[in-house]
This record gives sequence, structure tokens and C-alpha cells, in this order.
Amino acid sequence: MQKIKMTTPIVEIDGDEMTRVIWQMIKDQLILPFVELKSEYYDLSLTERDRTDDQITVDAAFACKKYGVGVKCATITANAQRQEEYNLKQLHPSPNATLRGLLDGTIFRTPIMVNNISPVVKPWKKPITIARHAYGDVYKNTELRTTESGTAFLTFIGDSGDIKTELIQKLPGNAVLQGMHNLEESIEKYAHSCFRFALDSKQDLWFSTKDTISKTYDGAFKEIFQNIFEAEYQDAFAEAGIEYFYTLIDDAVARVIRSEGGYIWACKNYDGDVMSDMVSAAFGSLAMMSSVLVSPDGTYEYEAAHGTVTRHYYRYRDGEKTSTNPMATIFAWGGALEKRGELDNLPELELFGKLLCETSVTTIEDGIMTGDLINTAEGDNLQKVNTEEFLAAVRERLEALLQTKEV
Ligand code: NAP
Ligand code: MG
Repeated sequence: MQKIKMTTPIVEIDGDEMTRVIWQMIKDQLILPFVELKSEYYDLSLTERDRTDDQITVDAAFACKKYGVGVKCATITANAQRQEEYNLKQLHPSPNATLRGLLDGTIFRTPIMVNNISPVVKPWKKPITIARHAYGDVYKNTELRTTESGTAFLTFIGDSGDIKTELIQKLPGNAVLQGMHNLEESIEKYAHSCFRFALDSKQDLWFSTKDTISKTYDGAFKEIFQNIFEAEYQDAFAEAGIEYFYTLIDDAVARVIRSEGGYIWACKNYDGDVMSDMVSAAFGSLAMMSSVLVSPDGTYEYEAAHGTVTRHYYRYRDGEKTSTNPMATIFAWGGALEKRGELDNLPELELFGKLLCETSVTTIEDGIMTGDLINTAEGDNLQKVNTEEFLAAVRERLEALLQTKEV
């Protein structure tokens, strides 16, 4: 079989622990035998980030911007315990936060569905993709707790010297106060990422806030989305046969539970935090979730939503063959190669990325799966395998399929 050629590299961002082990296995078993891989490699292992004072993370982000497509392995976010374990010079911020900050992107998370694992919510037939705004609101708040009665104001002093003040409340006794903000530019970029992703994936886009109560703050989110939609995306949506609609968060929650799925649900920061955990838990497992960071300038970074699976790694280091689920990492590679193929007009590469994901799904549907799924799956042909055996089963199916498709 001729290997599939690439023209532009993808940015390969390696990581830590069990996922780093799986990363290499996936490359050896499922990518390199079939694709003449062109990649620019960035080692974001904790030791390398520490050695380079985190410059490697910044370099990886700029490489993603340059080439447009990256694929990232899970990485350790250092804390005091890791500092000791890895003898680190200092604690750097989460690499995901650094990448997200530099790429200014939005993360879209979609459950990977298989026909022998049913979502907990009965009507859900198709995946529900959650988009979460990643800047501001309660995550950048300022809080106060008072110990006497008094009056609270919200005050803004403009650089022009102009002052705006609103009374919050006359407080008859001890109280708690919170101030938060968002930036119009950040909301605009978020809106663009959502509209682009909806067009890319040809799915309806829902957006929800609580603008009936928060008329100015959430009202601004609603208005910005609506204005951008009308000015730049309305026609493209009509052409693609998809819909954008805004609804109240309460209404959205009720509709989501009764829906079949198959759309993108864009949320404000806090709503996205909570709702993405709810949706992923209801669909089964963090390892059955694909995740992509999309920036407003059209950069795509594919990753797994789960962490480095430390507990499995320690067992692996002790010589055990673990049954760690590689699905999310396979989907990261598949998504990145498919996108690279699409952008470079390489239909063979695009198809390969797609088939890689499809065959890993088929493998589970054939009853072959890792330990995390075995208790939730249905059927009498279920077989629990270790990671290597799972990848071998995917490879067998991928090879057979590639031959029939004459890729
Ligand atoms: P985790 O790596 O997601 O693992 C938590 C537990 O979930 C595992 O112990 C395992 O449960 C189960 N699990 C997760 N992924 C699995 C998979 N692919 N296959 C089978 N089981 C899986 O979360 P964590 O232990 O809280 O974090 C470990 C490290 O990852 C931390 O250093 C954290 O900073 C980092 N992290 C990175 C990212 C990222 O880069 N995207 C995201 C989150 C966390 P059992 O042990 O019960 O089998
Ligand atoms: Mg959360």
C-alpha cells in the first residue's frame, strides 16, 4: 500500500505519563504505517517545559498559528506535589490555559457515540457539542464580605475621566458582594468561533444566557451574537441548511433534555463549565469525548479532554499492561489529519483521518473495548482488552477498510 502524502506539517504537541505512552503507540500502530507523516514536534512534557521555562509551550502555540492545525497530547498541570515529584524549578501555568490564551480560542467538546453504549438521557441519539466561553465572568471576579450595614455601588472610571456609578443596594446588615466583567472583543471572538464551527460541522447553533434577568450584561452577549450573525453568517447558514437561535438558559436546558442531540450548544463561561460535565457524564466517559480548540483566525488544535491518567501510568511503569482507553487521543489525531487534508485539498488524507475515527468506533461496536467501558456497554460479545490489543484491533479494521476504499 502506498503511504498517504502530506504537504503542510501538523504541529505535534507531545505530553506526559500514560497519554504520552499511548501517543507513541497510536503513531506506531495507526499513523506511520499509512501516512508519510509531516509534523513539527513540540515536547510539552513537564520536564521539557521546566527546562525551557515554558518557552516550548509558547513556541507550540505560535507553530499552531503558523500551520493552522495542531494535535496535542494530555499534559500535567504542575502543582506542589508534582514540583516535588519532578524536581521542578518553578510552577508554570496550565499548558492548556497558555495555549488557549495565545490562540484566543474556544473549546468544542463532543461525545464519541457507539451503538452499544446508551446515553443516560433516553432521547439523545446524536452527540451534543458544548462550546464554552473561556474568558471572564465569575472566573475573573472580585469579591467582598462586609461586617456592617452600608451602601454598595458599582463604579467605573473611564480613561477620559468620565465616571459611571450605579447603586447596587443599601445593605441593612452584613453582606457579600461580587464584581465581574467581560470584554466585548472576547465575546465577539467567541461568537465568530461558534459560527465558524457550526458551519464547519454543519450543525445548528444554540446560544443561551439569562438576559431576562441580566438585561445589560447577558443582554450584551445576546446582542453581539445576533449582530455578528446577521452581518456575517446568515447567508452561509441558510446555504448550509443550518440554523442559529438564541434562547434563555432555562429553556435551553429543558429543550436539551428532550432533544435528539446533533447540535452545538454555546454557553457562557460558568454554564459551559457545568453543562459540559453534565453532558459528558450522561454520554458515558471522559475518554469518549473529542475536543478541539478553534481560534477566531481559523487555527485548530485537537486534543483529548481527559488528563494524563496518572494512576494507570504508575501501573504501566511497574510493568503492567494497562487497559487505558485511547479513543480521545485517536480522535485528536484523526481530527487533525482530516482537517489538514481538508485545508490542503488532500482528499486521501482527509478520508484517512475520518476512517481512523470510524474504525475505532467500529472496534468498540464489535465488542472489543477497554476496561472503563466494559460495565456500561451492552451485548453478549463484550471483550475487555488492554490498550495495545485495542489498537491492534483498530489497525486490523483500518487496514481492511483502506484496501476497499483504495486510499
Ligand atoms: P485523568 O487523567 O483524566 O484521570 C482520572 C481518572 O479517570 C483515571 O484515573 C481513570 O480512572 C479515568 N480515566 C481518565 N482517562 C481515561 C482513559 N483514557 N482511559 C481509562 N480511564 C481513564 O485526571 P487526573 O488523574 O485528575 O489528572 C492526571 C493529570 O492530568 C494531572 O496532572 C492533570 O494536571 C492532568 N490533566 C491534563 C489535562 C489535559 O492536558 N487535557 C486535562 C485534565 C487533567 P481509574 O483510575 O479509576 O481507571
Ligand atoms: Mg468543570
